[in-house]
Amino acid sequence: MTSEETLKEFNLRVTKIRLAVLDSLSQSVGALSYSVLQEALDKFDRTTLYRTLLTLSDHGLIHKAYEAKGESYYARCFGCTGIDHNHEHLHLKCSKCGGVECVEISEQLKENLAQLPFEEVNIYAKGPCASCAA
Ligand SMILES: [Zn+2]
Ligand SMILES: [Zn+2]
Ligand SMILES: [Zn+2]
Repeated sequence: MTSEETLKEFNLRVTKIRLAVLDSLSQSVGALSYSVLQEALDKFDRTTLYRTLLTLSDHGLIHKAYEAKGESYYARCFGCTGIDHNHEHLHLKCSKCGGVECVEISEQLKENLAQLPFEEVNIYAKGPCASCAA
């Protein structure tokens, strides 16, 4: 599905910046930090970018994968809705390249988490990412 089709599917108006943000995140292997996004999309103003990230998060198209030292990292969502994000994966912050990746967790771990009375689960891991470990 293209970014344009995705926006339409979520009943969101198609704008240049929404397409640009979705394209950047879809093409990236890992999550992108706010400053990297800002640099890549510097033809849009900062307020618009910030609001776009909020809108896309609210509607379940992207999620905040990691947050540190005031810097947020964003990644594409798959299978989330505007009502709730359903992230059954963990976020790996690479200790070598500093990248952030979404990593699938086992069915067993998903089942264990489903039995706990949590409203939201965020699992962070630190270590070399797949490309740095190779
Ligand atoms: Zn999500
Ligand atoms: Zn790495
Ligand atoms: Zn993620």
